[in-house]
Amino acid sequence: MRLSQRVQSLKPSSTIAVTTRARQLRAEGVDVLSFAAGEPDFDTPERIKKAAKAALDSGMTKYTPIPGDPETRGVIARKLTEENRIPGLTPEHVVISSGGKQSLYLIFQALLDPAGGPGEDPPEVLIPTPAWVSYGPQAELAGARVVEIRSDAESGFRIRPEQLRAAITPRSRILILNSPSNPCGTMYSPDEIRALAAVVEEAARTTAPDLVVVTDEMYEKIVYGGIDHFSFGSIPAVAERTITVNGLSKAYAMTGWRIGYAAGSGEFGLRLAKALSKLQGQMTTCIASFFLPAIRVALTECADEVEMMRRAFAARAELMHGMIGTMPGLVCPKPTGAFYVFPDISAHFGKTSAGDRPIASAADFAQALLDEHHIAAVPGEDFLGCGPRCVRFSFACSEEQIEAGMKRVGEFVAGLG
Ligand code: PLP
Repeated sequence: MRLSQRVQSLKPSSTIAVTTRARQLRAEGVDVLSFAAGEPDFDTPERIKKAAKAALDSGMTKYTPIPGDPETRGVIARKLTEENRIPGLTPEHVVISSGGKQSLYLIFQALLDPAGGPGEDPPEVLIPTPAWVSYGPQAELAGARVVEIRSDAESGFRIRPEQLRAAITPRSRILILNSPSNPCGTMYSPDEIRALAAVVEEAARTTAPDLVVVTDEMYEKIVYGGIDHFSFGSIPAVAERTITVNGLSKAYAMTGWRIGYAAGSGEFGLRLAKALSKLQGQMTTCIASFFLPAIRVALTECADEVEMMRRAFAARAELMHGMIGTMPGLVCPKPTGAFYVFPDISAHFGKTSAGDRPIASAADFAQALLDEHHIAAVPGEDFLGCGPRCVRFSFACSEEQIEAGMKRVGEFVAGLG
């Protein structure tokens, strides 16, 4: 078989080594504590499951309109209007897809063309890094060149407006924002978002007329650091060049259901919705039909369940960050959103573990931590930017596990010399 260049050029994930080793150790009966999860440990709220079961029992088993039925798109449009304060939205502006990941994939495919020929420059996708692992590969699959805007642990993993200004060129087509952030666990304040929006607005008038902002707000409900979640698309001056992407995976503990959506304001949003629907119509058609009533229940009836999970994450964030703070050489901004901490562990590069393993990278650190103390964490190599100096610990697990696990991490760090 001859594989396409497209597939051949996709980079394999550097996290696979740790995941495979963790599985192997577990199979040998070793008590591995995993902090690698990218999904809530809670079950989907009961009433959401009931709505899907009832829809299935009532015979809701056929294709639906490609972007979702008008009623569910209406509930999402209302949520984005009332909660996120995004102007100019109707049900027609919303496209429901099989996960935020699919929404993002459709957006890249809908907005980007590869370079026209040899010697021509490809379009540019600006990604503040460290960043979630799929933005880069998805942008490259659509033919774009990734332009990183780097941040670090000291700056709370937030880019500054002047960095954004310097990165924008006439070829800039998409800026990705992800607040709260996976893997960083930090977020932008409303004023910081406004300052970035001012740069986008100015650039769109001058150097980069085609610039669109894709704001991935997947973790908007999991915030606990005193910073309010603020939607980029709520700023009128940039609303008609902003696409808000969200989904039910994280806020409602529904990762396995695969439900996401995208929307933009006004005329821009209508054109976008038509383009995404056209693409989706040739890919997956629509999401599972009997999920549609479940989406409506999640978005309108589950505030209590969401709040229960938010509080649990808040307590775990405090516990995990507190314990990491006692470990010498780990630099870790306090998490304010999502369920991750992303300490910079590079002060330990050049050392050797108690088990005699050299530590020259985040991957070495994660591998030795797993082999010697049976803790699974995600090394930051795939997250770009300063990611290769960091390791991601997820706190989508119990407080007991955090206490036991972070004790082991502390012992590992103390043994480095
Ligand atoms: N965006 C971010 C930042 C994520 O962390 C994830 C999942 O890990 C996604 C998007 C995709 O979520 P889903 O496809 O489950 O909606």
